[in-house]
Amino acid sequence: MHATDFPSYRGRMEYVCLGCGARYPHDSLLYACPECGEVFLLENLDFARLGEHDGAYWRGVFDARAASRVTALRGIFRYYELLAPMLEEQDIVYLGEGITPIVEAAPALRDSVGLPFAYKNDGQNPSASFKDRGMACAFSYLKWLCRRHRWDEALTICASTGDTSAAAALYAAYVGPPLKSAVLLPKGKVTPQQLSQPLGSGATVLELPGVFDDCMKVVEHLAERYNVALLNSKNSWRILGQESWAYETAQWHGWDMAGLCVFVPIGNAGNITAIMSGFLKLLDLGVITALPRVFGVQSEHADPVYRYYAAPVSERRWKPVAVQASVAQAAMIGNPVSFPRVKTLAERFIRRADERAFQVIQVTEQQTMDAMIQANRHGHIACTQGGECLAGLVKAKALGLIDSHEHALLDATAHSLKFAGFQDMYFTDSFPPEYGVKPDKNLANSPQELLPEDARAGKSDAEYAEAAATALAKRLNLKARTS
Ligand SMILES: *Cc1c(COP(=O)(O)O)cnc(C)c1O
Ligand SMILES: [Zn+2]
Repeated sequence: MHATDFPSYRGRMEYVCLGCGARYPHDSLLYACPECGEVFLLENLDFARLGEHDGAYWRGVFDARAASRVTALRGIFRYYELLAPMLEEQDIVYLGEGITPIVEAAPALRDSVGLPFAYKNDGQNPSASFKDRGMACAFSYLKWLCRRHRWDEALTICASTGDTSAAAALYAAYVGPPLKSAVLLPKGKVTPQQLSQPLGSGATVLELPGVFDDCMKVVEHLAERYNVALLNSKNSWRILGQESWAYETAQWHGWDMAGLCVFVPIGNAGNITAIMSGFLKLLDLGVITALPRVFGVQSEHADPVYRYYAAPVSERRWKPVAVQASVAQAAMIGNPVSFPRVKTLAERFIRRADERAFQVIQVTEQQTMDAMIQANRHGHIACTQGGECLAGLVKAKALGLIDSHEHALLDATAHSLKFAGFQDMYFTDSFPPEYGVKPDKNLANSPQELLPEDARAGKSDAEYAEAAATALAKRLNLKARTS
């Protein structure tokens, strides 16, 4: 068997409750523990068998697979053994997700921040956010489940701040029957681009007045009482898929994590859960020999995780917050369902390294918007949450939390185009007051009219082109060619 073939190793997956430790078999859809109501993580009972090979062996396998011509291994399932290794090749859905580029900060941006850093452009996934990683795994699992139980119909549903529904609808549309998808959105709280995505994919799109936390309660209620597949990050199969971000990051850095600080925005906290879980698996297998440091970032308008960790250890109490308007809208969540997962994994992280291995940074709306605009003026494609990460890096540096020999990797969780409306408000100074954002006028940009509306009248094509070219040359101060 060649390293680039579909693997023959199979594991046995089990849901493990983070509250009471109860375990459940993997062949039914479970989101919360029937005993205590807590969330799950999935565990591979045969993980130890992977340890019969050393880290160098696995580094070799994953590096060789980068050249695999097996479609199922081209995306996140390059790391098949670390994800859901009971899936068969026929189950795996591949829409081009994962293996997203890591782009070094433009030199001028790096110099102004004063630290080497890069963006991992997860906006370059098929539906333009990292949510595709989780959906590729969740939908592969659903295919497997439908096959196993011979289901002829399955309805998927999710509550969303925009990107989850875009991803869920895309994968459901691609897979087709027996899967169908419906999405529930907080009315007016997703961007027009995000709304257009599930509509274009043919999903049933339902809007509810309120915020994301309201929608989440509705789908939880549904999942307990009706026969639907919940695709929020309560669904642990999504967490597995999102672990691929950590595997790719480690591989890109040649499996050397020394001095790396990773910045991740926290909304429902599924992404940071997955990233920490992924790095821990690599450490367990000896694929990496040290953990990177992980920094969660939250806006002061939606910061329950920050508040929890800002308190002294003995005074930490979990308390959801009421959110306020945030440009980091995809992370505008006051009661993240994955908080218990973050807590568990942060403890493991700190145990395997030190207290500095996991921290949460709070930033303002203003800092987030300024950072996104600055990043994109330097050739990046950061969404507002990517701006939040850059603001988090600047803040962490100002707080003295980063050493001079360290370097950072920021998660640009979605493509800037999805959040063009916020850029627009920045350029036109039209933020509603609740955001509290005052743009730097020097950064404003708008299209300039080259010729008036009636300039075309009475001119031939050639005359019109010449008039426009002359006007353009004047506007840009072009020098005439002398020879
Ligand atoms: C979902 C989302 C987040 C928040 O991720 P969580 O897993 O909910 O913490 C951040 N940025 C973007 C672009 C998202 O779509
Ligand atoms: Zn339990």
